[in-house]
Amino acid sequence: MLAIDDIHALSTAVSGPVALPDSPEFTAETAAFNAATVHRPDVVLGAANAHDVAAGVKWAAARGLPVAVQSTGHGADSVVEGGLLINTRRLQDLQIDPVERTARVGAGVKWRSVLEASVPLGLVGLHGSSTDVGVVGYTLGGGLPVMGRAHGFAADHVRSMEVVTADGALRRINAGAEAELFALMRGGKGNFGIVTELEFSLFPLGDFYGGGIIYPGADAALILAAFRKWLPTLPDDASPSISLLRLPEMEFVPAPLRGQFVVHLRFAFLGTREDGDSLLAPMRAVSRPLMDTAGPMSYLDVDQIHMDPADPLPFTAGGALLKDLGEETAADLLKLTGEGSDCPLLLVEIRPLGGALARSALSQSGELPDAVSGRDAAFLLFLLGFKMPPVAEAVTASIRAVLAGMAPHATGYTLVNFHGEPGDETDRARAWSPAVYERMRAAKSSYDPGNLLRFGHTITGVPSAT
Ligand SMILES: Cc1cc2nc3c(=O)[nH]c(=O)nc-3n(C[C@H](O)[C@H](O)[C@H](O)COP(=O)(O)OP(=O)(O)OC[C@H]3O[C@@H](n4cnc5c(N)ncnc54)[C@H](O)[C@@H]3O)c2cc1C
Repeated sequence: MLAIDDIHALSTAVSGPVALPDSPEFTAETAAFNAATVHRPDVVLGAANAHDVAAGVKWAAARGLPVAVQSTGHGADSVVEGGLLINTRRLQDLQIDPVERTARVGAGVKWRSVLEASVPLGLVGLHGSSTDVGVVGYTLGGGLPVMGRAHGFAADHVRSMEVVTADGALRRINAGAEAELFALMRGGKGNFGIVTELEFSLFPLGDFYGGGIIYPGADAALILAAFRKWLPTLPDDASPSISLLRLPEMEFVPAPLRGQFVVHLRFAFLGTREDGDSLLAPMRAVSRPLMDTAGPMSYLDVDQIHMDPADPLPFTAGGALLKDLGEETAADLLKLTGEGSDCPLLLVEIRPLGGALARSALSQSGELPDAVSGRDAAFLLFLLGFKMPPVAEAVTASIRAVLAGMAPHATGYTLVNFHGEPGDETDRARAWSPAVYERMRAAKSSYDPGNLLRFGHTITGVPSAT
């Protein structure tokens, strides 16, 4: 229980709001996009600037309180119980350098704001399926972009960052300054500090073709078979993915599709209508589409490719990296999640990896390899369902059962952004290769020896010899 003097000390050290559980601002300051996660910290700080973040961390460290961070709550995979929660959503600085082709963003900036500023300049960043997601949380988790096969993971293209480590120090790090910390923060999630600012590369935008095709779920086997044959014919600047959707009767679902079981092919391509149409032709012929939105697209409509929900929802998720999508893998997936199964999941998604995702751009230029996993995997399997009565228990059980059933086809690892609820240390370690995990444990011992940053997808350091 915090004393009034403690709260006073925090309030006077920062310029942003400080809220306690019984105050009216507490709910808004702690609310997460994942509405199933209701955080219960001892106190929340709405940081107004990097100084507030540093002051908050120092304040918590002096009192032995753990520290959590949240901007949007898209990644609120577990509840923050006790301690200090730092809300970064007010850190909205955003600068684009069209000559250097870089963006510099504060920790509260979402991808949509980056695109609104960069697309008119003919530049885009490596965002994921929803531009409502925060740039920093996404990128620290590796950041699997819509155009990943063309450019690689978002974390591969970070130029520098400003970070407050567990000692409260504000550091500017890059490949030349604290190189190991800089490498491990890119993919290592929030293990080593709280990022207040991130600088990353942008890419030139030419023609863009994208959208989705929705097919009847009854044709899932046919479509998955065609998808498997079609993938090797695509260039790396085409990024497809496919999902089985059990669509709820909810407003975010287009009216004719509500309540239906469908297959959703998503397609993003850096090219012309003519080339896009020609690449997509085999998949257009495979079954009778219920909806086909693919075509030349304004890049600012990029969210229409995946059609992720824009408003908060209660959900739980799980993910695995697959070695292949061969006949047996596809058959097992359909047996577990297809039409005849009792699968209650809203989304069963397959994202092809490979292309530039398989290569570490920075390690090729002589820098230390970053902490992104999955370079050796062929596909990401991602499962998501509602975490609310009456389906919550069935959804959690189904995620477990599908992951267990698909284990023979999996690498044994995950991408941290698609890991779902963090379990015990062994479970959390699955988000990194053993070599990276050992580097991370050593760095955790140096940068956060007291394990101040211990919420969510975090690890513990190497025990000291004494
Ligand atoms: C609809 C939807 C679509 C998604 N699509 C993709 C996708 O295509 N590709 C992909 O890779 N991921 C995707 N994700 C996963 C997403 O990238 C992660 O959930 C990510 O953590 C979200 O970051 P956030 O800051 O928005 O979320 P938050 O919940 O605010 O943060 C999540 C975590 O990120 C870390 N973090 C956030 N800010 C900081 C900071 N300033 N310093 C240090 N650590 C910090 C913390 O560990 C925090 O707990 C998606 C998620 C959703 C809900």
